[in-house]
Amino acid sequence: MAGLYIHIPYCHAKCSYCDFFSIPRADSVDSYVDALLVELSLRRNEIAQSFSTVYIGGGTPSILSEEQLARLIEGIGKTVDIASLEEFTIEANPEDVTPQWCETIKRLGVNRVSMGVQSFDDEQLAIINRRHSSQDAIHAIDTLRSSGINEISCDLIYGLPGQTLDSWKHSLCRLLDFDLPHFSSYLLSYEPGTRLFQQLKHGKVEEASEELAQDMYSYLIEEAARRGYEHYEISNFSKLGHNAVHNSNYWRDLPYLGLGVSAHSFDGHVRRFNANKIKDYIDCMSQRLLYCKVEEETADERHNDYIIVALRTAQGIDLNRYMFNWGTDRCNQLLSVAQQFIDRQQMTLNGDYLAIAEAHMLISDRIMVEFIV
Ligand code: SF4
Repeated sequence: MAGLYIHIPYCHAKCSYCDFFSIPRADSVDSYVDALLVELSLRRNEIAQSFSTVYIGGGTPSILSEEQLARLIEGIGKTVDIASLEEFTIEANPEDVTPQWCETIKRLGVNRVSMGVQSFDDEQLAIINRRHSSQDAIHAIDTLRSSGINEISCDLIYGLPGQTLDSWKHSLCRLLDFDLPHFSSYLLSYEPGTRLFQQLKHGKVEEASEELAQDMYSYLIEEAARRGYEHYEISNFSKLGHNAVHNSNYWRDLPYLGLGVSAHSFDGHVRRFNANKIKDYIDCMSQRLLYCKVEEETADERHNDYIIVALRTAQGIDLNRYMFNWGTDRCNQLLSVAQQFIDRQQMTLNGDYLAIAEAHMLISDRIMVEFIV
């Protein structure tokens, strides 16, 4: 089975922490939707398997008008059997969620909404330049549910400027009180090129200390477990049977086709990358020319990709698969590197799986780097 990802690179305005490819205007959306459908027709056969998931992400896909969204999804439906999909997710921002929008996405076959909430503190939302209030987020969740959309995931960020442990607890508990089937939670990262990074450089905001970030993370995993969530990936938590299928397939290294600017694809052997120039993309598609660059991975790159995705998950590295792909000697070498972390209880060896211990996921980068070749 494979996944189809569609990137919508438009947002109402730029959040100050965001380094995803998105631009704060939407004047070329009609031509962009046309271009996506051309790209799908040109590249569908790159992936042999049928699609079991579709994910419309961004950017802010909920910025599309209902007409644009209908044209996009009905166009996809000419190639993909939407009724038989296991999961069809669209990302939304709270300010765009109305009863009419919910009815439209339901009619078009979308069965899951992933929404950026980020915080339930209005001051913190303003600092990071979100356009919605905490009340908008509450209202959006209620609207989705009363429209019969129950497969909802929300994102929260911790370590925001000025956020205390108590205010993080408040935001997290406010979200958990909804008892959603899924949520994601990330430590704020100051990425070069973002407004927040500049503010940090000029001393206008302060980064959360390592100790505070660790306390926030510890509270997150304890409270999520207490409320019945499985922490199945470094940033993702779900109730039983509600793991995000599309994203989990990335972590299982399954094939996916990514359409639109800055999207990536993987056919099981080769990775392809689309550049992030919207105008060039639309021009290429209007002439039915491919826009992606092919990257043949070396054996070491393939190995490193597997390590990075596997160690993000609670399950960890499948040692049988590792041995099959990279041989017994390399597997023994991997286990000998892992031993120091196992001794310190930072990693666990459960049967045939080697994983980072939950309490140490926050420092996973420091552990992963030891396994990269
Ligand atoms: S809405 Fe999402 S994609 Fe758009 S700027 Fe904000 S964080 Fe980035």
